[in-house]
Amino acid sequence: MRRHLAPLGTFQFTKSQSTIMVEPEDPDTDLDDTVDALTRVFGIAALSRAAVCEKDIEDIAATALEYLKEPLEDAKTFKVEAKRSDKKFPMKSPEICREMGGRILRRFHHLKVDVHNPDITVTVEVRDRYAFVRGNNLHGAGGMPTGTGGRAAVLISGGIDSPVASYMMAKRGIELVAVHFASPPYTSELAEMKVMELLKKVARYSGWITTFVVPFTEIQEQIRDKCPEEYFTIIMRRVMMMISARIAKSQNCHALITGESVGQVASQTMYALACTDCAADMPVFRPCIGMDKDEIIAISRKIDTFETSIEPYEDCCTVFTPKHPKTKPRLDDVLKAEANMENLDEMMDRAVAGVKKVVIK
Ligand code: ATP
Ligand code: MG
Repeated sequence: MRRHLAPLGTFQFTKSQSTIMVEPEDPDTDLDDTVDALTRVFGIAALSRAAVCEKDIEDIAATALEYLKEPLEDAKTFKVEAKRSDKKFPMKSPEICREMGGRILRRFHHLKVDVHNPDITVTVEVRDRYAFVRGNNLHGAGGMPTGTGGRAAVLISGGIDSPVASYMMAKRGIELVAVHFASPPYTSELAEMKVMELLKKVARYSGWITTFVVPFTEIQEQIRDKCPEEYFTIIMRRVMMMISARIAKSQNCHALITGESVGQVASQTMYALACTDCAADMPVFRPCIGMDKDEIIAISRKIDTFETSIEPYEDCCTVFTPKHPKTKPRLDDVLKAEANMENLDEMMDRAVAGVKKVVIK
């Protein structure tokens, strides 16, 4: 939370039981932006914006009626919940609820009480220094706090799927490192900028992403010149896995992440995935594996990567694509085809030596 809120000002964080209170030090802090930033912090299930008032029932009621005026007008049913951590406060929780409920009903005649399934729950919390009033919770980003799941390297393209895959794994607490393969002049500077743009959007959730851009032209040209055309894509994807695994290890990452989904393209059949999987000597996480494109797009819209993803720039996967790719490749055949490149190891060394490192904030 501190990292996410740093650009917006300084805040005080106080933890009590399962709740963390976040208070801006400067009263001019933009609270809309603050709430917006907090809804992207993984590990937070729910949050709510609260108004502060004196520990006095008159002030609490006046604050609630004013602060929650709009949602109370829009609601049909409500209930009041009270929490009293200051036991010296003269009213007990049920009394606070009764009093507040009465005042709300007298002010908003259309409202009815529903204690089981209310449109709005008005919560009053009496704490040591102040009281707080708040309405319904907002959904938090959910998931696990960043970094608690370790580090993994995502193979990021400019497409729709890999930014979504990045978000999904970051949500599970995994800190991201990114690897992108660029093949200039077949792929352009603009295509690379698009990837950086996408990573920036993912970083709004995941936090900083150390990114490695791998020069891939030589390897792709060699694949084109030396290997049978029907295996171009699968070999290219295997080499991507091998190089990514090397970078991943140097970055203390323990898995790779891709945006693949079964059957989406020829290189993503179960048979093709088996051939690429074994090129990496670490687990490969594919969180989109069982999703339809519609479902992946829905997430990409939610995290605001969709519009950038559909900008029409080439990816290295779209250069030298075979007319008839093998959809049921056998590993033996793939390895034989790959062995046509005698100098693959040296080329991979050169590619790794030539990586460009960019930290996406
Ligand atoms: P995406 O929408 O993520 O581009 P896709 O459906 O277009 O996926 P492919 O282009 O076959 O599928 O790529 C499959 C996966 O391979 C991607 O999700 C990504 O993880 C990885 N990948 C593809 N191109 C690159 C690249 N240029 N650099 C790094 N990883 C890549
Ligand atoms: Mg792609």
